[in-house]
Amino acid sequence: MKSYQMYIGGAFVNAASGKTREVVNPATEQAFAVVPEAGAEDVDAAVKAARKAFSTWSKTTALERSRLLMRLSGKILENAAMLAELEILNNGKAKREAQGDVDDAAACFEFYAGLATKVHGETMLTPANAVSYVVREPLGVCGQIVPWNLPILMATWKLAPALAAGNCVVLKPSELTPLTALELAKLIHEVGFPAGVVNIVTGDGKTAGEAIVTHPDVDKVAFTGGTVTGSRIMELASKQLKRVTLELGGKSPAIFFNDCNMDLAIDWGLFATFAGTGQVCSAGTRLLVQEGIYDEFMQRYLAKIRDIKVGSGLEDDVTMGPLVSKHHREKVEGYISLGKEEGATLAYGGDRPAHLKTGYFLNPTVFTNVTPQMRIVREEIFGPVAAVMKFSTEEEAVALANDTHYGLAAGIFTQDITRAHRVIRELRAGVTWINYYHPTYNEMPWGGYKQSGTGRELGLYGIEAYLETKQININLDTAPVGWY
Ligand code: NAD
Repeated sequence: MKSYQMYIGGAFVNAASGKTREVVNPATEQAFAVVPEAGAEDVDAAVKAARKAFSTWSKTTALERSRLLMRLSGKILENAAMLAELEILNNGKAKREAQGDVDDAAACFEFYAGLATKVHGETMLTPANAVSYVVREPLGVCGQIVPWNLPILMATWKLAPALAAGNCVVLKPSELTPLTALELAKLIHEVGFPAGVVNIVTGDGKTAGEAIVTHPDVDKVAFTGGTVTGSRIMELASKQLKRVTLELGGKSPAIFFNDCNMDLAIDWGLFATFAGTGQVCSAGTRLLVQEGIYDEFMQRYLAKIRDIKVGSGLEDDVTMGPLVSKHHREKVEGYISLGKEEGATLAYGGDRPAHLKTGYFLNPTVFTNVTPQMRIVREEIFGPVAAVMKFSTEEEAVALANDTHYGLAAGIFTQDITRAHRVIRELRAGVTWINYYHPTYNEMPWGGYKQSGTGRELGLYGIEAYLETKQININLDTAPVGWY
């Protein structure tokens, strides 16, 4: 059992209450680490440390911040193997996925290191004898709350732009997967971020999370997680009119037209649903297949799905790890039972792998003969479960794709370039792909339409979300205006 401490005011500390929580490896069901369980008192200490640091950190030059972020990126790369292994042990993800997340995290810090020095405002010579200009200023103390599915990457998407813009941060990882954020805290300390600029508190949502959201000295709340939690956070934050960014859930469509390149489409179609064991916000979990190719597509798709190797993420050839927790596997299994009750056809999986007696494993699962009203089609299952629907026309595909409260992502597969552009413009989703699915770029905005959230992360949009805008006007006249 390894024991971790939280990071508050530049020091590694226990919870004031002395309470701790065990962290479980989902592939073995064994606890392997212990972290502090923060309460409101600890959050208050973290916010105070952040506020104190803000008075000097907000006045550092962009170049100083840029260099620190660049050093942090380098440290992540130096420690990439350790961080990826810890992510596998804590979240369960497959090795290639964990390594990809750590590389992406390093690249994201690097991107915002570069962007830190490029924050400018406009200048205008006014029609009267004056000059007006705009400066961008950091917001202050930002509360950041992240989920368990991409622990280090979601923490990075929050920390990098906030720090580049000159904010101080109190970040809370998920209580299920706090370890890589705490290792990141050690690297942040090592590269020399001043005390209090970054504070990492570990605890649950109800206590530590709500203490962050409701703290009167937190200026902004940036949240990634479920839609119900997002709604609660928006409600709590509204009392003090805090700035809020919400990156929430999805039930994204992947559409396969008759003219798609089927080998490529099936490859990406499987990746769309089963990457990250289906625990990915943008997962393509509603597969819409045009009737002309439906039979052949399904036959080849269900043959290829057998190549997914379920097992411990530490094994090189495993491509799908366990679900994150016992509770979460039970939730996903509940949806599989529901799908059967609703009358869908279980075309593949639905059970636990026979060769894996321990660990929260589940086989990739596919339902066919589903209808748009079924709950397995409407609700985010957040597990390795695909629901496949047949459609005939392009209009029908668009209507089915948009028939959801969510709007995070969508993918389409077609060789017809005019159809690709026409259809993609009709889809009400914030992140879309043509002839592939999932890859995202630090340089480009990430976020959803409708109930998938509000605001954008990454790219130029990501830093915008951490800046205030101030207008400054200078009168160049020397004589009184003579108004009175
Ligand atoms: P969750 O909403 O249960 O928890 C997310 C975080 O919020 C955790 O740190 C949790 O402790 C905290 N939290 C829970 N209740 C809280 C409250 N009342 N006040 C403050 N904080 C609270 O989500 P999860 O199960 O950890 O993650 C899965 C969800 O995250 C899925 O819905 C997924 O789609 C979504 N997600 C979205 C994106 C995106 O970019 N849109 C990315 C990853 C995950």
